[in-house]
Amino acid sequence: MGIRVRGLYDLQVIDLEIDEAERNLRVVESGLGESEELRSARESLAQASEWQAELRRRLRNLELDLEEAIEKRKASEKTLYSGKVKSPKELSGLEQEVQLLKRRQVEVEDETLEVMSQLETADERLERERKRLKRLEIEWGEEQAELQEKQAALSSRLSLLRESRERLQVAIDPEDLATYEDLRRRKGRQGVALVQNGICQGCGVAVSTSKVTRVLRGEELVHCANCERILYLKG
Ligand SMILES: [Zn+2]
Repeated sequence: MGIRVRGLYDLQVIDLEIDEAERNLRVVESGLGESEELRSARESLAQASEWQAELRRRLRNLELDLEEAIEKRKASEKTLYSGKVKSPKELSGLEQEVQLLKRRQVEVEDETLEVMSQLETADERLERERKRLKRLEIEWGEEQAELQEKQAALSSRLSLLRESRERLQVAIDPEDLATYEDLRRRKGRQGVALVQNGICQGCGVAVSTSKVTRVLRGEELVHCANCERILYLKG
C-alpha cells in the first residue's frame, strides 16, 4: 500500500496551479472590452464636434444678420436720398435708422471675427481629439489582441489542468477528498502541508516525532496539531 496522502498532495499541486491560472484569467478578462480611456476619448471627440457645429451655426446666423442689416440700410438710404420724403421729422428719423444699421453692421462684423477665431480653435481641438482617439483605438486593438491570445492560452491550460485533476481524483478515497476540500476552503486554498526538518510548512510549528513517524508510515491522514492541515513528507 502506498502513501495515502500522496494523491492529495499531487492533487493540491494541480489545484494551486488551477487557482493561479483562474486568477490570471480573471485579470485578463477584466481587461477585455472597451476601456474607460477610450470611452472618455470618444466623448471628448463628440463634444468637440458639437462645439464646432454650434460655432458654424452661429457664423451662418451672423452672415444672415449682416446681410439683413446691409439690405435694410440700403433700403433706408434709397428712401432717404430719393427726394420723395420731405418732412424734416421723417428725414431725421431715416438718418437715425441708417446710423443704427451701420452700427449694427459693425457689431455683427466684430462678432463674426470673434466667432471665426473661436472656430479656428474648435477645428484644432477637433483634429487633436480625432488623432487622440485614433491612436487610442490602435493601442487598444493591439492590447485586446494580446489579451485574447493570453485568454486562449490560459483557457486551454486550465482545461488541461482540470483533466489532470479529474484523472488524479478518481484514485483518491472520497472521504479523504472531502477532508482535503474542507481544509482547502478554510485554510487559504491549502489543505496539505509539507513537513520539512520536523516543521509544518503550513504554519511553521514543529510536528511531534510520533506524528512524523505516522506520516512516514502513510497509512492514515495525519493532521498538524496547530493548523489542522494534512501532513505530508516527500520521500
Ligand atoms: Zn501546521
